Amino acid sequence: MAFTDQFEAFLRNALKQKQLENRLIKEALKSLRPVLIASERLVSDSNVLSAVVDREMMIRAITASVARSAQASWGQPMLEALQQELDPFISSQMAFARQMVEATGGSLPGQGLVSVPVKQAVSQAVVNGKTLADTLTTVIPSSLADQVERYIRLGLGDVGGHVVATYQDAVVSVIDRNVVASIRTGIHEVGSRAQSAIYALEADPAWQTDGLVWTAVLDSRTCPTCVALDGREFPTTYEKVSPHLQCRCYLIPKSWRAPGQERIVTGDSGEARASFKQDAGTWVKRNPDTAREIFGATIGSRLVGEWPDTAWGRQQQAQHGPPERISFDQAVKLWPAS
Ligand SMILES: [Zn+2]
Repeated sequence: MAFTDQFEAFLRNALKQKQLENRLIKEALKSLRPVLIASERLVSDSNVLSAVVDREMMIRAITASVARSAQASWGQPMLEALQQELDPFISSQMAFARQMVEATGGSLPGQGLVSVPVKQAVSQAVVNGKTLADTLTTVIPSSLADQVERYIRLGLGDVGGHVVATYQDAVVSVIDRNVVASIRTGIHEVGSRAQSAIYALEADPAWQTDGLVWTAVLDSRTCPTCVALDGREFPTTYEKVSPHLQCRCYLIPKSWRAPGQERIVTGDSGEARASFKQDAGTWVKRNPDTAREIFGATIGSRLVGEWPDTAWGRQQQAQHGPPERISFDQAVKLWPAS
C-alpha cells in the first residue's frame, strides 16, 4: 500500500474515532444536566449561601450528597453506556491495526489471539493518572462536589461586594470541560491500546522488531511535551500513556516513518506534507508563528530567533534587540514555567 493510502486509512479511522467521541461527549453532558440542576437547587434551598448556623456542617452534607448523586445517577450509568459503545469501537480498532500490519508488509501469525474485553479496556485506559472507569464514577463526581463547595464559599465571600462567580462559571463550565477532556482522552487511550495489542501479540516477530514510534499531530495546538516525544521509539508491547489530557499523539509502526515517507502537518502556511527526515523540533522552528502558538510568544520567539511582526514584537525588538536564542530542548524545559 502506498504511503498516501496508508495515511488516508489512518485519517479515516481517526475521523471515525472523533465522531464517536463527539457523540459520547454529547450524551455525557446531556445526562449530567439534571445532576447539575439538582445540585444548584440543593444549594439554594439550603440557604447555605446566606449566613446560617452550622454552616460548615451543612456544606459537608451538601457536598456529600452532590458527590453521591453524581456517582449514582451519572457516573455509574455513563460507565455502562460507555462500555456498550466502546465494544464495537475496540473491534474496529483491532481490525484497523491488522490492516495496517499487513499493509506495511507484516503478517499476522497470531491472528485471533487478541481479544480485549471492554471492561478491562475501560478499567485500564488511564486518564490523568486514573483509570477511565474511576474517572467517571469517582473523580468527576468528587470534583463536582469540590466545585459546589467552592461556589458556596466564593458566594459567601462575596458579601463585601466582589464579583461573584455564577453557578454556571464556578461549577457547570468547569465540570463540562472535565467531562469532555476525560471522555476524549479515555476513548483515544482505549483505541490506542487495542491497536498496540495487535501489533505486539498478533504480528510476526520480524515485523515487531521495528517497534512503534511516538507520533504527535503537528499543528498549533500541539503541546511542547508531545513535540519532544515525537520520534521516540517504543517496543511493540508498549501501551501508550498520555502525558496530558486530550493528547492526540499516536504510536505507529516504525516503517511508516521511513525517511522517504511524509506526514500531514498544519504549519504557518496551512496544511502540508512534511518528510519524516526532518524531526518535529526542526519542523516547529521552521514555522515561527506556529512555534509561538505552541510555546507562547516569548519562548517561541527565542526558539525561532526573531520576534513576531506585530506591535508587541516590534516593541520587543526596539527595547531588547533580537531575542536571546535557545535550543528546542531548552524551550521545552522553560515552557511549563511560562
Ligand atoms: Zn500528545
